[in-house]
Amino acid sequence: MADSPAPRVLRIAIPSPLRRLFDYLPQGAPPQGGWSPGLRVRVEFGRRQVVGVIVDCRDDSDLPLAKLKPIQACLDKAPLPGDWLWLCRFTSRYYQHALGDTLAHAMPVLLRQGRPLEARVRERWQVALNGDPARLGRAPRQAELLEMLRQHPQGLTTQVIQAQSFTRDQLKALEAKGLVSCHEETLTGPTPDDSQGLLASPALALNDEQAKALNQLHQGLDRFHPCLLHGVTGSGKTEVYLQLIEAVVAKKRQALVLIPEIGLTPQTLGRFRQRFRVPVVALHSGLTDHERLDAWEAAASGRAPIIIGTRSAIFTPLARPGLIIVDEEHDGSFKQQDGLRYHARDLAVVRAKRHGIPLLLGSATPSLESLHRARTGDYAHLRLTRRATRHAPARLELVDLKGRPRRGGLIPPVIDAIKATLDAGHQVLVFINRRGFAPTLACHACGWMAECDHCDARMTWHRQPPMLACHHCDRRRVIPDACPDCGSADLRPLGSGTERTEESLAETFAETPVHRIDRDSTRAKDALEKMLTEVRRGEPAILVGTQMLAKGHHLPHVTLVVVVNADAGLYASDFRALEHSAQLLEQVAGRAGRAAHPGRVLVQTMHPDDPSLRLLAERGYDALAESLLEERRIAALPPLRFMALIRLEGPREDALTALAREIAGELREQVRSLALDLDCLGPVPAPMERRQNRYHLQIALMAERRSQLHPALEWLAHRLEAWPEARRIRWSIDVDPQTL
Ligand code: ADP
Ligand code: ZN
Ligand code: ZN
Repeated sequence: MADSPAPRVLRIAIPSPLRRLFDYLPQGAPPQGGWSPGLRVRVEFGRRQVVGVIVDCRDDSDLPLAKLKPIQACLDKAPLPGDWLWLCRFTSRYYQHALGDTLAHAMPVLLRQGRPLEARVRERWQVALNGDPARLGRAPRQAELLEMLRQHPQGLTTQVIQAQSFTRDQLKALEAKGLVSCHEETLTGPTPDDSQGLLASPALALNDEQAKALNQLHQGLDRFHPCLLHGVTGSGKTEVYLQLIEAVVAKKRQALVLIPEIGLTPQTLGRFRQRFRVPVVALHSGLTDHERLDAWEAAASGRAPIIIGTRSAIFTPLARPGLIIVDEEHDGSFKQQDGLRYHARDLAVVRAKRHGIPLLLGSATPSLESLHRARTGDYAHLRLTRRATRHAPARLELVDLKGRPRRGGLIPPVIDAIKATLDAGHQVLVFINRRGFAPTLACHACGWMAECDHCDARMTWHRQPPMLACHHCDRRRVIPDACPDCGSADLRPLGSGTERTEESLAETFAETPVHRIDRDSTRAKDALEKMLTEVRRGEPAILVGTQMLAKGHHLPHVTLVVVVNADAGLYASDFRALEHSAQLLEQVAGRAGRAAHPGRVLVQTMHPDDPSLRLLAERGYDALAESLLEERRIAALPPLRFMALIRLEGPREDALTALAREIAGELREQVRSLALDLDCLGPVPAPMERRQNRYHLQIALMAERRSQLHPALEWLAHRLEAWPEARRIRWSIDVDPQTL
């Protein structure tokens, strides 16, 4: 590189929603490797100073060179990792998102602000091997300090020593006397030497199915080898991950593990950390900016062999990539729903292919996308059909809600089953996907219902604290004393939410603790862990919870799971609703009977004869998934076709509709003139047309081949950016949307 001529122009991605790059002139001495893509630079942009990233070095610009500004400074000694830059460029192109914004999203905040990418270090002090005690002299505090260090042969960090009221000067004095030595280590911890082995605790002996799966995975460690590990909850998928990671780390390569937001619990991390002696670096929303940068650096430098993180961890650079695992690959939290609308699982596929490494997607209830690819042979399909701990998975029993009295949403036979379970000394999980006291408040005299002024939605009645709240726009109102329409005071809750079910269960089972676990009850830090710790002690208890409880948490004493209402996904307008709702039901059911007792799952429904629900109950998720895939094929929907959604929103319905029609018209024109093989549908109202007092419309593009979508979307993004009327509305492009 050193002897290649210096470029005259640097093309830079600036953090901004604009889908274009900006040219600047180099200034100052280039870093050692010369000007190159991936270097961060500080530049003037309008009146601001921003941190941009060089993406191209060129000799010319579309503008006269005299018009270009020089950069202010180069911030890096070496470019950010090339694979990271490649992934960001891919992401930007695939999801039609501005590159500058994509890069900013994909790096830790401190890098975005221009901090250097360096490992933070700390000092560790140890007693020197050949120190001469006579040199201590008369220094009682130093003597005490020396004694303390003697008791810790592996050494102590400055911070720990200072916490014991010793000073740095005392340490320095001992060092000068040759009695202690100091060395620096990175904050993510030292990499232990190989002689002690990788494992802190031994791997389990695998059962036949696990062994077969692992064997097959071992065959493909050195190439792109996408696999779907399809195994019921408790079948030992995590054990397979752990042993595969062991093999990868033994080859001095790194493993990146993505897990859903809700799944990254101290328990999950604990399981990885107990197994491995090498550091396990976690990337999650609870980290400080500094910790996040440390973790990123440790991954990028190759010091961290195992990285576990949620969605955005897919952008973690790896010096020696060896394996990517996506646990609970069907989980909705892998898809970002605003801004850069990427899917971490899909990017994991792209990334594994680029690196030429294995990719393992694990789930008890795989997405139809992944199942489809497993069926067509794109992915190896590895199955675990038995629970590692003997018990067969609990079956769903449908319970007819029609015409039966309900208390807190539960009908008498279900309440009896709860009683029997508690009497047997076990725990019960009541799953209800609505927080608050009741889904809404209704007038018994005239039928009025509390509706949000700003959305096409009802307001939820909350008791703690008392209010009506819209879960779509967060508007709040006081609870009226009388019906605003007819003046009647006979206002009653309609339906049940977690608060009401909790209240009624607490009345019925006054002797038994009832724990409510939802977003409201777990706002306080550690509130969830505290409740779970209590629950894990195993005393009879009832847990009333939302989907926060469906995943990740092991609840070994729960032997009865009750689903208050299974009907949400049955007749929804979103074609994925049934798939998502079936996944959730299976996940919830998977909580039952994990330890010594088999479980029961009672599912309340108004539609016990619904064919999909019956298929799920009688033959399980896999059978339902097969039938859903067939329906998607007939209806020509994803995953059999590729889809993109253009969402448009504005304050005025008529103006928005007129503009949306014009946009769709131009788009169709473009599709024709580019001879693209795709369908353009709409504009149609979004499922909740009015939200936050704004109107929402959408245009859908569908194609057999992915390649047909992108030219149309790229054209549209540029057209909308340059379209003056489009400035008055908000628009976004969602490629492979997960919700309509
Ligand atoms: P999954 O990830 O599929 O839900 P886990 O890996 O968490 O399943 O395994 C469920 C339980 O079974 C865990 O307690 C785990 O320790 C245990 N387990 C897994 N594999 C084995 C095995 N081969 N032998 C004994 N116990 C196992
Ligand atoms: Zn009324
Ligand atoms: Zn609202």
